[in-house]
Amino acid sequence: MSTLDILLRRVLGAERVLRECRNCGTTVAEDQSECGECGAEEVATYRLT
Ligand SMILES: [Zn+2]
Repeated sequence: MSTLDILLRRVLGAERVLRECRNCGTTVAEDQSECGECGAEEVATYRLT
């Protein structure tokens, strides 16, 4: 799979992964390892099917 394909899948929402801060519930971007709101490092990952 090319990089373009991966980008397209993300834009189109084909990759349904939700990352959420366990502390405050803020949605955390895939490239972030901690919450941008409260700084908590515990991020829950939900794979939606
Ligand atoms: Zn948080």
